[in-house]
Amino acid sequence: MASTQFSSDMLTPTIIANSAGWMMGGLTFPTILRISQSYVFYPLGFDTSTRFKASSCGFLAVLIGGSVSSLLAIELRNRVILELDSDTSVLPSYSFKNRKSTDKLLLCGMLSTVMFRLFGGRFINIIPSNVATRGAYANIMQSLPASSSKYATANERKLITKLGQAYGCHTCGAKSGSTIFHADHQPPNAHKWFWQTQRFYAQCQNCSGKQGASIGSKTVRSITHFNFRMYLVWMPIPLFLEAASEYDA
Ligand SMILES: [Zn+2]
Repeated sequence: MASTQFSSDMLTPTIIANSAGWMMGGLTFPTILRISQSYVFYPLGFDTSTRFKASSCGFLAVLIGGSVSSLLAIELRNRVILELDSDTSVLPSYSFKNRKSTDKLLLCGMLSTVMFRLFGGRFINIIPSNVATRGAYANIMQSLPASSSKYATANERKLITKLGQAYGCHTCGAKSGSTIFHADHQPPNAHKWFWQTQRFYAQCQNCSGKQGASIGSKTVRSITHFNFRMYLVWMPIPLFLEAASEYDA
């Protein structure tokens, strides 16, 4: 591996290369999560009705998405440096046969899962929501104990509207100012066992309609969803690690 010496001439190529890498990682990470939700988990029928399985699938998607995004970001960064910086002739390229490369890739994936969690993400967030059960965004801390199996009281509706505006619909995550929220019983009355207590979760009008149709037709239905959240932002830590490894070399 060629040693890379720091110089002021390298500053601009380095900045351009790292920016390009960050852009690549920033675009590919949420895209991979979106594609895995719509074209892998949804067709396979994986949804939030089985929460442990959903969380496990979400973890794998974040791990793989983080690894692939980091790989593409690092590869692009290195190619841009090679293109722009005449002093650099060789930079490491990923190889499946190279143990160091695969270890680095796994480390990048693990770092992505850590950042995802630090930014408030839960792995179930990227799994399709089953409209009849707690959705991908459901959080017990953002719900209310239901006073009865009947429709929510005026006071409960007021609190649910506030929870919906702050945290979004528990099924699809929508939380725009114009969204109307309903107090959704979980578990729903139609699926509740006599010993179970119910809670109210904020659910948007759109998802509430889908839930009603799903329960009415007795067909389990799940929906895909995608909303911007901070945990979808890919942080360029792998690029810093790559730069640090070059200066150490
Ligand atoms: Zn919704």
